[in-house]
Amino acid sequence: MEKRFVYADNAATTRVSDRALAAAMPYFQECYGNASSIYSLGMNAARAVMKARQQVADAIGAKVGEIYFTSGGSEADNWAIKCAAEAGAKKGKKHIITTVFEHHAVLHTCEYLAKNGFEVTYIPVDEFGMVNPTDIENAIREDTCLVSCMFANNEIGTIQPIAEIGAICKSKKVLFHTDAVQAIGNVEIDVAKMNIDLLSLSGHKIHAPKGIGAMYMRNGINLVNLIHGGAQERTKRAGTENVPGIVALGEAITAACENIPEKQAKVSKMRDRLISELLKIEKTRLNGDAHKRLMGNVNISFRGIEGESLLLSLDLEGISASSGSACTSGSLDPSHVLLAIGLPHETAHGSLRLTINEDTTDEDIDYILEKVPVVVERLRAMSPLWERIKSDDV
Ligand SMILES: *Cc1c(COP(=O)(O)O)cnc(C)c1O
Repeated sequence: MEKRFVYADNAATTRVSDRALAAAMPYFQECYGNASSIYSLGMNAARAVMKARQQVADAIGAKVGEIYFTSGGSEADNWAIKCAAEAGAKKGKKHIITTVFEHHAVLHTCEYLAKNGFEVTYIPVDEFGMVNPTDIENAIREDTCLVSCMFANNEIGTIQPIAEIGAICKSKKVLFHTDAVQAIGNVEIDVAKMNIDLLSLSGHKIHAPKGIGAMYMRNGINLVNLIHGGAQERTKRAGTENVPGIVALGEAITAACENIPEKQAKVSKMRDRLISELLKIEKTRLNGDAHKRLMGNVNISFRGIEGESLLLSLDLEGISASSGSACTSGSLDPSHVLLAIGLPHETAHGSLRLTINEDTTDEDIDYILEKVPVVVERLRAMSPLWERIKSDDV
């Protein structure tokens, strides 16, 4: 097959869609007004922000007044967790529950709070990367102020039983936050039905630009600000609105949520072909549940090779992929998610994450399936460990 460029790292970021870009363009040079100004140029921008807020609300079953734009998923996670913790502390509740395999925007926020007088319980996940809601129920105490559990994992793609966890938190009267950055556009989300109090989402994982996101905060929950300053976002989040980003996010989230079943059928078929073909290579394993996983997520460990070498070799072939979380590449620590599902360090190191989407073609899959086995074989032939691993029974 002729050399091609295959982008298979959509969990790290996505290409901005034509639709999101076209919607945003006028707000750079024509309608560039400040959305807080009272003349027409500003009012036009304010109207565009209002429309986008409605689009985001509609996509997750929220009310328009429950959506606050942020600079991205990380800010939304920080806001939800730090400010829910602060509200809890005022009532003497300083216990937080989260899981071991969250994104670092959640984990590092919790670690920061733990250094500042909060107690954090980390719920484990099973070997398939699933959280058991009963573990969360059992961990809730009188002084628990917040449960934070991600909707879908960014590395192994597992989709969590969020409605069940939401029901538990509701009955125990504990605030429930979910990082839904990876789930948006993959799974139907209804914050009301699922009893979600706080939710984080990000634009650049769903074909909007980087640097824009949103937090949903249920009506009646009145967390204080993370960012102080002007009266934007109904006084809750200061900073002149990123109008083009907001408009792009509104358009991107509408597009992402309007045809989930069709996308699911197409993308999961390509995903399953990748998984079943790659698993034919000896000494490999699939990470994460085979069924309860995001339509575009493939995460496979190849024993006897280094993920970094695999990525570099694939890049030379024109394939962009990841060996874990983009945030941890550059560090040699194995992924905390792969360790959490029980992988030994050595196996975790040899993992490959391919995240495809609706823009991926069958030819792209053919190309990946042509290149990966060759690269794996070459790297294994150079590995001093491979001879030993090959004769292992496991
Ligand atoms: C990408 C990601 C984030 C961070 O979002 P940014 O917009 O990049 O700050 C948070 N959580 C998860 C699960 C992610 O995949």
